[in-house]
Amino acid sequence: RERALHDTLTGLPNRALFLERAQHALDRRDPQPIVACFLDLDDFKAVNDSLGHGAGDVLLCAMGERLTACLRPGDTVARFGGDEFAILLEDTDLSTALAIVDRILASTSSPVNVGGVEVVIHSSIGLAPSDGRHTTPDQLLAEADAAMYAAKARGSHCFEVFAPAMRIATELRSRLRTEIDHALVNEEFRLHYQPIVDVQTGTQIGVEALVRWQHPERGLLAPVDFIDHAEASGQITAIGKWVLGTACLATAQLPADGHMSVNVAARQLQQRGLIDVVAEALASSGLPAHRLVLEITETATMADIDGAIARLSELKALGVQLALDDFGTGYSPLSYLRRFPVDYLKIDRSFVRGIARSAEDKAIVHGVIDMAHALGLRAIAEGVENAIQRDILSELGCDLGQGHLWMRPVPLNAVPGWSLPAPRPIPERISTHTA
Ligand code: C2E
Ligand code: MG
Ligand code: MG
Repeated sequence: RERALHDTLTGLPNRALFLERAQHALDRRDPQPIVACFLDLDDFKAVNDSLGHGAGDVLLCAMGERLTACLRPGDTVARFGGDEFAILLEDTDLSTALAIVDRILASTSSPVNVGGVEVVIHSSIGLAPSDGRHTTPDQLLAEADAAMYAAKARGSHCFEVFAPAMRIATELRSRLRTEIDHALVNEEFRLHYQPIVDVQTGTQIGVEALVRWQHPERGLLAPVDFIDHAEASGQITAIGKWVLGTACLATAQLPADGHMSVNVAARQLQQRGLIDVVAEALASSGLPAHRLVLEITETATMADIDGAIARLSELKALGVQLALDDFGTGYSPLSYLRRFPVDYLKIDRSFVRGIARSAEDKAIVHGVIDMAHALGLRAIAEGVENAIQRDILSELGCDLGQGHLWMRPVPLNAVPGWSLPAPRPIPERISTHTA
């Protein structure tokens, strides 16, 4: 019984025991206020990936001990698996619970020594007070979980108390998850391609593949409507695999010797299987590796820079090219840029947008282009919308550009032969409906 009700790693109660105790508290004849809390560590995966599972286990045990130390003897802290913990505060009103949660946030975020390495990890906490309307512990937990999601959405290292509107967000999330599963089976994802051109001559040197979702009811959806969700749910792995396979096949069908750029999500970069997925896409399409460019967002590399460098080097060893996407919006220390084995820097469109009217934006773009060249990389400007921006970029020595000035993303059959000048742009119509 002891083993069936406890987590083997931390020795804490498990989900079954937590539910048993919560049921007991809810069933009491003299009702007392109780608060259920759901706690999830932020970026725990990065620790596991960079320092190994042994280090991850040490960290989880340390967190279990700290949580226990923050509570009173009658309270329960349970581990639900992974980096998820649940806390049951009995005979506790909300203001007392908030004081305890403050203590937990402070205690869990102080550094943990893991095999000589100091690791700081933050957590997100959701609280669900029982006000007598809950009939089941599951309901209470679902509310704490919804509040935890809201806390995560607000940023790292904070808590939220459940509010009914959060239930709607939870329902939307679970519906979107089911719909994405269906979309994968029913082949509802599409790729649109946007030319990347030589800024000086306008000649196309390649295209970037951009995913779309032909939703049965909501029309053609842009990545903003589903990519973040797919990343949080893990479904990005399956979508990303489809994108890579489809984009590589498309390149092989296109006439000239152009490049195919494919976006890779942070979550994919953390997975060791990415190398096999890329190798498989190259092998089954027959695309020469050097014609594939993987775009990695600068922020994606942040959680674990050494791990990212190792993964990027493995990808480079396959012969593919790498681009740092949305450059300038992340926070990577510039010193690491020397160690990133990348070939291109893509200047984020927020800088390109202001290039004609803001001396500061122009100076930043100028600086990035010069730095790229000094490091032996090529600079790509994103979001070039008019000829004035193009002329300034050309004057600053920017190598490549991409944007509505030349062409919007279009389906494969509308991409002009890569060596030919671009035809009149075909407008892309995307549903403005946001999930
Ligand atoms: P990104 O990789 O930086 O892609 C460039 C985005 O800028 C695209 O948005 C493109 O349509 C848009 N764009 C291009 N030219 C212009 C312009 O002149 N003006 C303006 N305002 N925008 C322009 P899109 O297609 O909505 O994609 C948004 C983001 O979603 C991408 O940003 C990328 O981070 C992500 N994404 C797209 N496809 C995939 C995919 O297959 N996998 C993953 N993981 N992420 C993807
Ligand atoms: Mg990109
Ligand atoms: Mg970008």
